[in-house]
This record gives sequence, structure tokens and C-alpha cells, in this order.
Amino acid sequence: MNIKWADRINNLPPYLFAEIDAKKQGLVDKGVDVIDLGVGDPDIPTPQRIIDTLNKSSQNPNNHRYPSYAGMQSFREEVATWYSRRFGVKTDPLKNTIILIGSKEGVAHAPMAFINPGDIALVPDPGYPVYGIATEFAGGSPYLMPLLEENGFMPDLSSIPKDIVEKAKIMFLNYPNNPTSAFATDSFFKDAIEFAYKNNILICHDAAYTEVYFDESNKPKSFLEYDGAFDVGIEFHSLSKTFSMTGWRLGHVVGNEKAVAGLGKVKTNIDSGAFQAVQEAGIEALRNYEDGLQDRTNIYKKRSKLLSDGLKNIGIEVIEPKGTFYVWFKNPKNLKSSEFANILLEKSGIVMTPGTGFGIYGEGYTRASVTLNDEKLIEAVSRIKDLTI
Ligand SMILES: *Cc1c(COP(=O)(O)O)cnc(C)c1O
Repeated sequence: MNIKWADRINNLPPYLFAEIDAKKQGLVDKGVDVIDLGVGDPDIPTPQRIIDTLNKSSQNPNNHRYPSYAGMQSFREEVATWYSRRFGVKTDPLKNTIILIGSKEGVAHAPMAFINPGDIALVPDPGYPVYGIATEFAGGSPYLMPLLEENGFMPDLSSIPKDIVEKAKIMFLNYPNNPTSAFATDSFFKDAIEFAYKNNILICHDAAYTEVYFDESNKPKSFLEYDGAFDVGIEFHSLSKTFSMTGWRLGHVVGNEKAVAGLGKVKTNIDSGAFQAVQEAGIEALRNYEDGLQDRTNIYKKRSKLLSDGLKNIGIEVIEPKGTFYVWFKNPKNLKSSEFANILLEKSGIVMTPGTGFGIYGEGYTRASVTLNDEKLIEAVSRIKDLTI
């Protein structure tokens, strides 16, 4: 039989990290000692208290049945409590929150709830590839908002053409930002809310990295802290990066009631919620969220400094990381991102992500994840130093 893929997937490039993984595997098979600073996936294990809760909760037969679509009330209440403790944001757990199977799931389904064929989603570039592709899956078109260094990697909303603004239904934002590690300013979030309100555009803020910051006096804010945010937007959050729980697939969306309900309606037709034992472990994670958090972020802070200082010492221009676990830097010798990534892989056995993997405005940059130990990072810098380009 002749199996044909739908155009929707036929025209897609392979998922960036899948492609890099294949190349990496080729080198590993040849016996190369590959240093993988590609994908951002914490190497630090999930805290034991969370694992213990899962073990216990998994024994309860009530948890073996279908969970509720929107998430357990107890989990949603804990999310509300966390938003209040961490950000001072008051929400109604039942109206403003639903559970997600990781924030990627929520981000990927959002356009299905808000985009009609022909509509536009405003998408940051460079950015998490899911925003644009999910928009296309829903029949919409992404309009790329360049994140430029001279603007602190925040989009210039006033430069978006009027006809685009009129057709735009949603705007994705992501701070602290992957891949640039930039934080948003207060004035940017305020302007974005005003812009969204004036133009009837729903803001979908991806806040996966709010807990990975290096300076206690510069804590990332939730977008929902700003006046008017609940009127115009929703915020995606996740336990993945905060608690080293990427494998557990647990996240949540908080914000505008009608928007949350819209995403919930899509989801009831696609998935059946998250394993309740995982939700109970999530409750434990959030309830004692400060436990061990600083130790984990200190590790990322130390590594980020190690890598960025190392790169700077060999003449590479690095964007100073304030948080996240990414170091975003300018390619040496003005190399194209794909060229540099290939040189790194083939000559040094180092995997880093080419800036263009996050969009056309990532050209000229490279992203390194600091999800490996100090020794590997030192070794990576030394291999790059020895490169003759
Ligand atoms: C890691 C990441 C996510 C996805 O996290 P999950 O909750 O594990 O699905 C979402 N957005 C950005 C920007 C990320 O880097």
C-alpha cells in the first residue's frame, strides 16, 4: 500500500533535535567521545521527595483510573497557591487553571483553540520551534517577530505591519527566553499587554524558565503579575525545568478563564489528562518548591559562568546569561550557524544547537546547554580553543 503523509507533515523539516541526535549517534558509533551541549534537559535528578510521593501514590488504585481532564482539584489548588506565594498572583484554581501533559503539549494545542485557517500567530524568532509549527498545524501562519540583540531580545511590537496585526489572533512570548536567555523588562510586558488589549490578540506566555535565575535581586516575573494580564492572556508553566522533571510530563496553564476553557475543550478531545500519581508528586514538588531549588540553580549558574567565561577567553562574544540553562553566543569568525555547528560536531565532537534551528534571526549565533558537568564544559572549551577554523 502506498502510505502518503499529509501535506501538514510532509513539508516539515525534521524536528531539529531529532536530526542532530542522528548525526551525534553516527559519531558515537564511530567511537568519538561526544560532548552533547545540544538539547536542554537537566542532568540533575528529580528531588527524592518527589519520587517518594510518586512511589506512594502509584500504589493507590484510585489513581489507576482515568484522571479528570482539567486536572485534580488538589493539583490545581496547589498551582494557585504556588502562583500566589511565588508571584503574588491570585487565581481561581478551577476557573483559571488546567493541567497539561508538559507545557509543550499546551503550547502545541493552543493554536487549535484560537487560530482559524488564514489567521496569524505572532511568533518570536529565534524561538521554541513549536510555536510556529503548531500554528501551521492549525491552518494559520506564523509572523516572525525578530528578537534582536539591540532590543534586548524582545520584539519591537511597533514594527509589526498593520495588516498583520489585524489578522493576528495570538502572540507567543517566552521569558526567561530560550534560546537567548534574555529576561523581559517590566516595560515590555506592560506594552505587550496594552498592544494585545488594543488589537484583540491573546498573549500566550511560555514561562518554563521562571525558576532558573542567577540573581536573587533579579527574579523573573510571571506575565500574570502585570495589570490587565488576565484580560489578555494565559501563561504556560511546567515542572520540567524547575524540578528536573522533564521525563514526568507535567505542566499547567494559568490565566484568562475563557482562553483556558478553550484550550481545555481542545484537550478533552485529544488526551485524557495526566496520571494522578504524577499529579500528586507535582503537588509535593510545588508545595515545598524552595527545597533544593537554589542548589540546583547554583549549579547552572556556576556552569554558565564557566562556559561563558571560557568562550570569552578565547575571543568569542557571549550574551551574559542571567538565567535559564543556555549560553547564547556569536559564532567565531562570523561563521554561519549551520557551518559552525557542523565544524563543532565533525572536528571537535561537540554538539551545540545552531541559532538557525530556532529561526532565521538566530543566524550568526549558537546555543549551548549547560546540562553537563564542569569537567565536560572545560573540555568543550578546550576543544573549541584548539579548533582551527
Ligand atoms: C523545555 C521547554 C518547554 C517544554 O517543557 P515541557 O513542560 O517539558 O513540555 C516549553 N517551552 C520552552 C521554551 C522550553 O524550553
